[in-house]
Amino acid sequence: MPNIIVVGTQWGDEGKGKIIDLLTPSVDCVVRFQGGANAGHTVVIGEQKTVLHLVPSGILHEQCRCIIGNGVVLDPVTLIDEIEGLHQQGYLSDPLRLAVSDRAHVVMPYHRQIDSLREKRRGASRIGTTGRGIGPAYEDKVTRQGIRCIDLVDPNAFEERLDLLVPEKNKELELLGGTPINVDELMDLREKWANYLAPHITDTTMLVHDAMRDGKKILFEGAQGTALDIDHGTFPFVTSSNTCSGGALSGSGVGPTAIDDVVGIVKAYTTRVGQGPFPTELEDECGTHMQDKGKEFGATTGRRRRCGWFDAVLVRHAARVNGLTKLVLTKLDVLAGLKKLKVCVAYELDGKRIDYMPADAHALERVKCIYEECEGWKGDIADARSMDKLPKAAHRYIDMLADLIGVPVDIVSVGPDRSANIIIRSIF
Ligand code: GDP
Repeated sequence: MPNIIVVGTQWGDEGKGKIIDLLTPSVDCVVRFQGGANAGHTVVIGEQKTVLHLVPSGILHEQCRCIIGNGVVLDPVTLIDEIEGLHQQGYLSDPLRLAVSDRAHVVMPYHRQIDSLREKRRGASRIGTTGRGIGPAYEDKVTRQGIRCIDLVDPNAFEERLDLLVPEKNKELELLGGTPINVDELMDLREKWANYLAPHITDTTMLVHDAMRDGKKILFEGAQGTALDIDHGTFPFVTSSNTCSGGALSGSGVGPTAIDDVVGIVKAYTTRVGQGPFPTELEDECGTHMQDKGKEFGATTGRRRRCGWFDAVLVRHAARVNGLTKLVLTKLDVLAGLKKLKVCVAYELDGKRIDYMPADAHALERVKCIYEECEGWKGDIADARSMDKLPKAAHRYIDMLADLIGVPVDIVSVGPDRSANIIIRSIF
């Protein structure tokens, strides 16, 4: 099938970067469609580790065109750093391989400032944002005050946009105890950014449609996870964009009929960074096992991730709202050594069994998990490259998850390296 969307099914950090890197040799084009530099993908090739925030991980494959779509909010500072880093590692010799949507909104320095100051102000009720200005940039998009990449390459348009928004922004900054905007400084930054990024900025929707017309294979790369989706996640502890498959359509300018498969990346247990309800969270040695063995520290923030048992209610929700057709199960190797494994199959909310995610975060805080147990396995499975090399207990665990979610598992990932996979069925 030519066009697929790949999304995270939990709270992000499912290992999408590695799987997208694995699938990329089979595609001609990778499109990032939402989020900003708050997402971090880690790709390990041999000894070399590359962390990407904005640039799709497909950039590591020479044949692949990478697109940052209109749904992304783009911080030029991060993007320029990332492009520089890629040059240093010998990638991206052809700048045309990276196209940036002229409609994508720009994260400005004042967005970062507002983000951090607001989060500080919230104190104990903070959302757990990464402070990178993503939320404030999306707000400006919705209130139609945002600056888009197309404005970066036109000093008059840029100045016109600033004239409209600066008085209001400065009022907010004053209220929050921040530093007022220096327009001259921003004008200088614009020039620097435009000089660097202009060769990349273009109408990416046209590029995507041209690629489809030419029968190219396209992979739409989601960042973060479904439980962080602004509509379908654990609101208000969510991100500011649609992380689910619907976001791929609006965030890149294609219709649903262009998509052949929606692949959900699902971690063999659950993790979450930052605040918010987490029904299966563990605060015992099993949680520590997952944290240590799974190296559960954020690629972008370095924050320690909270860990817990697999939550099938959460992933079933993801299967529904994304229309998942295939699953890739990651980090199964991390569970080796745990005697018993628990899977949350339903919740109990105020004495009543439910098998869906309540909309209310307080209700999700209150739910009790109904678990089914299964045997763990002892031996390391990191070297397994076929299903027959996995212990019986691991087979049972995979089957149990696929049954509970109602979507088949096509690939099992058993280690961070590009080659550490069991391909049950080819995705393409
Ligand atoms: P992403 O944002 O979904 O790409 O996830 P992250 O990059 O934040 O986190 C995934 C981390 O797990 C990275 O350090 C990967 O190298 C690593 N990883 C991915 N798949 C596996 C796996 O199957 N087993 C282990 N042990 N690590 C993995």
